[in-house]
Amino acid sequence: MKRASFIFAPQVSRTDVPCFVRTIRLPMAAKQATIKISAIGLYYATVNGQDVTDARLTPGWTSHKRALFQTYDITSLVHEGDNVLRIYVAGGWARGEIAYDPQWRVALDPRFHTCLAAVCDVTLADGQSMAVATNEDFEVWSSPYTEADIYQGERFDGTAAIHRLGYAMRDESAHPQLQPHDHPLVREQERLPVQRILRTPKGETVLDFGQNHAGYTEIRYRGKRGDRIRLSFAEILDKDGNFYNENYRASRNDIRYVLDGEREIYKPHFTFQGYRYVRLDEFPAEADASYFTSIVLHSDMRRIGDFRCGDPRINRLYSNILYGQKSNFIDVPTDCPQRDERLGWTGDAQVFCRTACIQYDVKAFFEKWLTDMALEQHKDGGIGRVVPKVFDDDTPSAAWGDAATVCPMEVYLAYGDRELLRRQYPMMRRWVDYMHAAGPEEYLWIGGTHFGDWLAKDVDDSYVGATQTDLIASAFFAHSTHLCLRAARILGEPTDDLLALYTNVRTAFRAAFMKDGLPVLYEGGEYTDPQRRPRLRPITQTGLALILHFHLYEPKEEEGLIRALTHLIRENGDRMSTGFVGTPYLLHALADHGEAKVAFDLLVSEKMPSWLFSVKHGATTIWEHWDSMGENGELHPADMNSFNHYAYGSVYDFIYGKAAGITVPDHGAGYRHVTLRPYPDRRLSPLAVSEQTPLGRLSVRWQYVRDGIRYDICIPHGCTATLMLPQAPVRTLTDGEYVFVCPSPDTP
Ligand code: BGC
Repeated sequence: MKRASFIFAPQVSRTDVPCFVRTIRLPMAAKQATIKISAIGLYYATVNGQDVTDARLTPGWTSHKRALFQTYDITSLVHEGDNVLRIYVAGGWARGEIAYDPQWRVALDPRFHTCLAAVCDVTLADGQSMAVATNEDFEVWSSPYTEADIYQGERFDGTAAIHRLGYAMRDESAHPQLQPHDHPLVREQERLPVQRILRTPKGETVLDFGQNHAGYTEIRYRGKRGDRIRLSFAEILDKDGNFYNENYRASRNDIRYVLDGEREIYKPHFTFQGYRYVRLDEFPAEADASYFTSIVLHSDMRRIGDFRCGDPRINRLYSNILYGQKSNFIDVPTDCPQRDERLGWTGDAQVFCRTACIQYDVKAFFEKWLTDMALEQHKDGGIGRVVPKVFDDDTPSAAWGDAATVCPMEVYLAYGDRELLRRQYPMMRRWVDYMHAAGPEEYLWIGGTHFGDWLAKDVDDSYVGATQTDLIASAFFAHSTHLCLRAARILGEPTDDLLALYTNVRTAFRAAFMKDGLPVLYEGGEYTDPQRRPRLRPITQTGLALILHFHLYEPKEEEGLIRALTHLIRENGDRMSTGFVGTPYLLHALADHGEAKVAFDLLVSEKMPSWLFSVKHGATTIWEHWDSMGENGELHPADMNSFNHYAYGSVYDFIYGKAAGITVPDHGAGYRHVTLRPYPDRRLSPLAVSEQTPLGRLSVRWQYVRDGIRYDICIPHGCTATLMLPQAPVRTLTDGEYVFVCPSPDTP
């Protein structure tokens, strides 16, 4: 790529999509031809009118410090004589209106242009080679893509007059480092047909694809030249059955298409939407389902996990979790795919990472994102709120920045790649150093600006929840230090200082936040802020779950802590009240400390807040708020309400890790060794989980039968398992298929 200059189109606006054109004359046929392409923006390339790739949204989204390039074999597309290379370039993530507050957008730095870099290498039939690289010889033309932006949508005018704008200019300003991509590219993955065509009470025509997802709508319709089509998108209908998309905020998601009278199929190239419903704002004919197909778009990731149980509601929940992952794994792990965010929020990915790793092979996907995280780590070790960075204010928040330690460890455990962990280790270590230096107390993280237990339901007037953010931050300081210590042991790095730090942090945590075995309010830090003080509670479900799950208690305190936790749940009408931080651990904490039944009660509950509340109300993906939609169809305010946030989908790691009982310990990374300790519960029977591990298929199935519980277990070659079944001796299993029938713990 060194030979290619970054070029740009002078005098075009940020939302224009210029086309860079170059005719490549080959004196004879080519033995081999390849093209490498990168952009600051998104590119779509054709050679002699043929697409060079079926990948979408290339070259992908990275830190501004680097840009990726892809290499394509185009031998079959070129011939002797003139070959026309056309590359359309839109602003995309690099130059779009990414991030919801304009004043925060770093992407709009005027020093950057929407740029293209490409080099075409040809080996001719006689063995000679030639190369054509982007430079000022590339012509710039206007294009039928008259406007494109990830949030705002795309306009394609098949009647637009296409004219030459001049020659490209070389961009001499500072440029990101060009690197070959080694991550899964975004591709079309599923085609969803229209399920029904609605006429809403307002009289609008709306297509229902039956499934919330991310992608775009393909239109297959040959009308008259000049006919207009305009589509709007929505995730839900309001309680009157009308089309509702106010929750997209400033994201217009507007598709406008003017037909040229010849082309049969149109689908956008430089944008995507998160939706289930499409409103036909303009369409030249009576709508027919055959004209529309929705295409599910996400990064290419191999499905490796599967789950099924006897409760159809939980199966629906599982499907919603899967769609949450598909919709939010579009080149980077995002919070949501529809409104004016779609950002790599570190906290959301931290929470969902394990679930992601056991459903799909996301090793390369995460490695790319973690590489960008390391590139964007602050000088003092801080990890920002979103990666790639888009906000000027990138102040680290507890449980968000901890993505730096949690994600590398989860990816390591799932796939066993030590080198990956080694590459991420310096970032993990520096994040711990950041927390060590933060705030007035050496071994606590006091103060700072945090998202707390985001969206918890234990206090009415705040998104941050009732758990002290000082407690959350200090608990994660301990947790991340411990993860770093584990990573150091795995990698053979020095551990003495980390062990000492961990011991000190844990001791300090207990001294500051615990008294007589239970959490107390820390009277410094956040507590001194009169604004925050009224909402803080010493004992919350999240606080207890963190203390239990992160082992911040002494053995003698265990009983009191779990009693306090079950008491809070009971007092809350047998309901949870946790947000992003407590939810992933709550059911684990209950099951690990003798209250598996309560954990399953919460799992199958339909009372808000619960997972099945949304299922009961027709959800096809995981909602951002427990009550994104209320009991009577009323909607959470549009200023922050997504129906496709994966964070609460992290409950699948409870189903996998506790219901099926599969855990991978540090020494078993990559499934060389697993612990199988199922917690059967009659309400989910029969339950089956399977996983294509790096060693082959692992599966656990249990079913209540007349004489007790039957377990079917399959262990892949190269894996050993420690099996702990209720009321049965511990066994060690090697590869093979096993059947056990044991007494049921809940039958006398
Ligand atoms: C995002 C979240 C994110 C949060 C941080 C929201 O707007 O959608 O999922 O983690 O901000 O507080």
